Amino acid sequence: MEYGDSTRSVNAVGIHGVPGSPVAPVPVPASAYHLSGDESEPLDTYGRSSNPTWRQLESALAELEGATSALVFGSGMGAISAVLRVLSRPHTTLVVPADGYYQVRRYAVEYLAPLGVTVVEAGAAQMCEAAAHADVVFAETPVNPTLDVVDLHQLATICRGRGATLVVDNTAATPLGLQPLSLGADLVVASATKALSGHSDLLAGYVAGCHPELMAAIERDRLLAGPVLGAFEAWLALRSLGSAGLRIDRQCRNAQAVALMLRDHPAVRSVRYPGLPGDPSHALAVEQMRRFGGLVAVELADAPAVHRLIERSALLVAATSFGGIHTCVDRRARWGDPVDEGFARISLGIEDTDDIVSDIERALT
Ligand SMILES: *Cc1c(COP(=O)(O)O)cnc(C)c1O
Repeated sequence: MEYGDSTRSVNAVGIHGVPGSPVAPVPVPASAYHLSGDESEPLDTYGRSSNPTWRQLESALAELEGATSALVFGSGMGAISAVLRVLSRPHTTLVVPADGYYQVRRYAVEYLAPLGVTVVEAGAAQMCEAAAHADVVFAETPVNPTLDVVDLHQLATICRGRGATLVVDNTAATPLGLQPLSLGADLVVASATKALSGHSDLLAGYVAGCHPELMAAIERDRLLAGPVLGAFEAWLALRSLGSAGLRIDRQCRNAQAVALMLRDHPAVRSVRYPGLPGDPSHALAVEQMRRFGGLVAVELADAPAVHRLIERSALLVAATSFGGIHTCVDRRARWGDPVDEGFARISLGIEDTDDIVSDIERALT
């Protein structure tokens, strides 16, 4: 029987245990483990190689992504940079999103290009075209922050046709909203800092996939480069995963309701949400997504209009990052994203839907 996503989130945290053992996960903050006298290698030897709390989180993430294995890292960028390092050689042509998470572009341009990697930046609409000449394609969907959806099935077909590796950043959608591996991606990477852990209290990242050699090479990079996750962060992330279904359902419901309200609001120039009928990405989103996510992109007149919205609202938190329990607003031009001055990304929290809709509606008027 196929369980629903909330049941799978709860089960992923672990439902089996010997009588007397705690139902909740327990963190194991060890740097070193007892070795046996005969020098046979136990599963855990040293904290940079492995950790029991990581393993529990990794099997939960692999289950949710539909992967055979997952590897956790100290941040999303820790996971992404490890994958890009492993896949990049001199003369590799690497496609990265021109409109996606800006630090991925920065990493490719500042660290990989000087090593001889050809870095090609492509917007969501140009991804397939760029993939036709690539060795590695790093795609993000929905693109953060503009929320264009990339056609993963088409992109995977192009990549497979030329033997290119397709990596998909699943941070915005989460595995509860999108399953890139089932659409043909070779690897999923994500920041678990956002909606998956969902409480704005930790940084974490992961890689999930089904190719044993590729996953082993990424694990080797984690060991040698050392961007590891702390045991307490792994434990907090695991603890949060159990409520991911509940939280993400509410965030998606709030995003849908706020997007609908914004569409008809006179102070709004434009609004993007993949779940909004009439959105340029809606048809594709319906085809490939299970949920449309908690992010809404809105364009107001100018930067002061975004500042006024935050000032007048009683519920909005001005913060970068997203996916937490609070509804947050971030004016992305301040970070250098290629968007207009009045562009704001709203990350919906888990407040009551009517409260957050009327708060934003009032604050805009
Ligand atoms: C936040 C984010 C990252 C980076 O994750 P960190 O945990 O901050 O390192 C990567 N990709 C996307 C789409 C993000 O939103």
